[in-house]
Amino acid sequence: MYDPKSLKAEEFIDHQEVLDSLAWADAHKDDAEEIKRVMDKARLHKGLSHREASLLLACDDPEVNAQIFALAREIKDAYYGNRIVMFAPLYLSNYCVNGCVYCPYHYKNKHIARKKLTQEEIEKEVIALQDMGHKRLALETGEDPVNNPIEYVLESIKTIYGIHHKNGAIRRVNVNIAATTVENYRKLKEAGIGTYILFQETYHKESYEKLHPTGPKHNYCYHTEAMDRAMEGGIDDVGLGVLFGLELYRYEFAALLMHAEHLEAVHGVGPHTISFPRVKHADDIDPNAFDNGISDDIFCKIIACARVAVPYTGMIISTRESPEVRARALELGISQISGASRTSVGGYCEEERDDSSAQFDVSDQRTLDEVICWLMKLGCLPSFCTACYREGRTGDRFMALCKSNQILNCCHPNAIMTLKEYLMDYASPVTKLIGEDLIAKEIQKIPNPKIKSFVEKHLVMIENGERDFRI
Ligand code: SAM
Repeated sequence: MYDPKSLKAEEFIDHQEVLDSLAWADAHKDDAEEIKRVMDKARLHKGLSHREASLLLACDDPEVNAQIFALAREIKDAYYGNRIVMFAPLYLSNYCVNGCVYCPYHYKNKHIARKKLTQEEIEKEVIALQDMGHKRLALETGEDPVNNPIEYVLESIKTIYGIHHKNGAIRRVNVNIAATTVENYRKLKEAGIGTYILFQETYHKESYEKLHPTGPKHNYCYHTEAMDRAMEGGIDDVGLGVLFGLELYRYEFAALLMHAEHLEAVHGVGPHTISFPRVKHADDIDPNAFDNGISDDIFCKIIACARVAVPYTGMIISTRESPEVRARALELGISQISGASRTSVGGYCEEERDDSSAQFDVSDQRTLDEVICWLMKLGCLPSFCTACYREGRTGDRFMALCKSNQILNCCHPNAIMTLKEYLMDYASPVTKLIGEDLIAKEIQKIPNPKIKSFVEKHLVMIENGERDFRI
């Protein structure tokens, strides 16, 4: 029985409620009056329920679709402005005891090169990432209690935060590791992680169990209830996601929003981020083996409908996607992207590219400098800011700021200052030129004269070599 407040996975992601929502959306997708009601509600910028958002996703009227896309853009501009937060994944270990059929880390894969970084190797990777200009990482590991125990992850986080190479520093470490215990989430919180990210892969229980035939990840409820345990352990920023291609996208979309509603209902705060990964080719994985692959157009529609449904949630797209798809997605609500990612273990300091330990192929293979330059040419403001986490603006405090549009007052100035740091320390001459021009324009947008003069003063300090590790 559907109950968003229940702590049981099968009640807050009630299968029948998902089916009923999809049936309701199908029954009303040509009902102009109902669509108008939902669009009018969406125009208030306060979000939609999973049923309402499912209706918009089901609707195939080109005129309505154009309105949804325009609204997604409008909502993104209202809450996030033109900022795009930058990050990179850091693969620590690809040892894994699970049997996930879409992931080349599955334990039966004897072909993939198994690697686990030592603390010295992590230091080298982090220096390579800092030398590109990265400040925010997402740690990735396979699930293996012997090779990758929580102590290894905690030690690695400590190592990462401790490295200050030239003007570099990793100021926020997000963590994407397998579902774990409240006690371990508490330890991650104490280690100072930013967001805890865990992709659901699929919300469809029967499919989930087939796609995860063996290993601890087989347990659907334990996996689906992980975010509640993370929040119980004190982590208030959690990141959701489904791996599109595994199940019917409309099922996943409705269930993903039900998960967000559940977190809001139980913990008073929805997901900090939602990621939008699609299954990619990998070592022994052929994405065409999965029947539910989605076109770029559907993918973009999902992103637009999500932006309209959860206006305050950060939305992430990775280098799994090509520059062309990423450009479209940025228009529709994406607020964070990765750049220059390597999905192999130790990939950032290899002298010669070696993908033998990689998790999947990346489609966007550009350098960080190229991505930053491209973003600015698209009219975006790349941000390396990590201040929210450092200043305690997490969980409901972040959401309260976001809901009152205050993020523009602190995030926009911080984005300008961290972009300036990037330009001074890492950018190529062309990127620097474009960036300085952009910064001059962005300063003019700051409405509050006090904040404006604070930023101007700071920019001079940065030019003189000072770095502010609080932003
Ligand atoms: N071991 C952790 C877990 O079980 O959640 C972390 C997972 S992994 C390092 C990060 C994510 O990569 C997975 O959650 C999955 O969604 C995604 N992934 C796995 N195989 C993939 C593939 N072939 N293409 C695209 N993404 C993939």
